[in-house]
Amino acid sequence: MKLVMKFGGTSVGESSRIKHVANVVRDHALKGDKIVVVISAMSGVTDQLIEIAKKASMRDRTSIDAFVKSLASRHSQACRDVIKNSEILEQTLRSLNEQIAELEKVLVGITYLGELTFRSRDYALSFGEKLSTIVMSGAMRDLGLRVDYFTGGESGIITDDSFGEAKPLMNITRQQVKEKLGPIIEAGAVPVVTGFIGVTQDGLTTTLGRGGSDYTATILGAALQVDEVWIWTDVDGLMTADPKVEPSAKTIPVISFSEAMEMAYFGAKVMHPRALEPASEGEIPIRVKNTFNPDGPGTLIVQEKQVKSEGIVKSIAMIRNVALINVSGAGMVGAPGIAAKVFSVLAENNINVLMISQSSSEANISFIIPRTSLEKAVNTLELSLLGSGFVKEVTSETDICVLAVVGAGMKGTPGVAARVFKAVADQGVNIRMIAQGSSELNISFVVEEIGGVKALRALHREFKLDC
Ligand code: ADP
Ligand code: ASP
Ligand code: MG
Repeated sequence: MKLVMKFGGTSVGESSRIKHVANVVRDHALKGDKIVVVISAMSGVTDQLIEIAKKASMRDRTSIDAFVKSLASRHSQACRDVIKNSEILEQTLRSLNEQIAELEKVLVGITYLGELTFRSRDYALSFGEKLSTIVMSGAMRDLGLRVDYFTGGESGIITDDSFGEAKPLMNITRQQVKEKLGPIIEAGAVPVVTGFIGVTQDGLTTTLGRGGSDYTATILGAALQVDEVWIWTDVDGLMTADPKVEPSAKTIPVISFSEAMEMAYFGAKVMHPRALEPASEGEIPIRVKNTFNPDGPGTLIVQEKQVKSEGIVKSIAMIRNVALINVSGAGMVGAPGIAAKVFSVLAENNINVLMISQSSSEANISFIIPRTSLEKAVNTLELSLLGSGFVKEVTSETDICVLAVVGAGMKGTPGVAARVFKAVADQGVNIRMIAQGSSELNISFVVEEIGGVKALRALHREFKLDC
């Protein structure tokens, strides 16, 4: 089979896991599979890079030395633990040190500038994947595999310049990836590619959004028209709920792209929401598998028509770290263009709106955004809307979360919404907002944060997802 295999941060987070992953790849290569490997940063590294870059922008020079030392030591120790061949070890350590020195220069540069643009932040973040992928390449070489290391850009992933959330330019990417990786896999070697990062047409490093290594995998898979994309992670597949929140969650054996997309969009972190697009368009199945239980069947994500309809609801998802904004004023009634103005202001400021609801009286519009964008959103909305005579107030709430009940079987099944809202109400949890016109594949609504987990677990029981 021709496969892209992506290994997430926890799968490459320590020496024994790196060794294990290298063995998994080797076993498949020995069976004759043609494989492209995509690697995420070691667990926790991207968060640490975000933090240190922020400190650097506040001219905190002192934290940099200790950070760089500990990052270098974590990666070089992994190499020493895993790579037995001294020549391969030496080469790998040399490549690591080059990248570490470059990262240090970048961070020191940020302290001099005293500012952190999205562009320089992306460059700083890219080192997480570059370092882990160098270690992984060394580990695989040590097992006798023929390996070629690529950054996302070198592998042909060309993106627009929306730093922090870049999107691939698929036409050029498809062509470049085929040219660069195609001959290597045909020759029986294994390209090992950094997840999460791409490059603009001008050669600037971009990132594909948090969790973006999944996206790297499906972009490469679509470009190379592989048989399947395998997402290796730390759980058994896509589950009926986040197993960290609902311990009785079960693995879903088969699910459609559109259902998986809804789950990912509404907080199932196991998959980057946009990662499903290239695979769905190219009709390339995705398999989600547990690195630590490689023989388990995992979850297969395929076209809708290939999924037998079973059950009404497949999964319950939850997004925390969101905020609700309410724009209101009696003057909004009958005034055209207010909603358009609100959402264009948000779009101009790159603020992602997750859910929208407008009261039938038209006197208010409520919507949900990521909590990190709250201050910017309220400030810009106040600046552009207050004083117009139409809008009286912009208020916000942060003690909320979004729940989504996902499943294609809800389409045309009467009474599902009633069951959902009754189950939540029976827990004494308040529903603050229900989205209008959401897809028929899900019912999504906002509850008080304190009751979020309780409501999720009640819904999981209500739809017998634990059986
Ligand atoms: P990786 O590092 O492999 O990319 P992530 O941490 O990004 O892994 O995603 C895996 C995590 O997603 C799991 O550990 C799990 O807690 C979480 N998760 C949330 N919702 C779900 C779900 N419905 N099914 C499976 N995992 C989920
Ligand atoms: N390392 C990146 C992140 O933590 C990308 C990924 O893990 O998929 O978001
Ligand atoms: Mg992930």
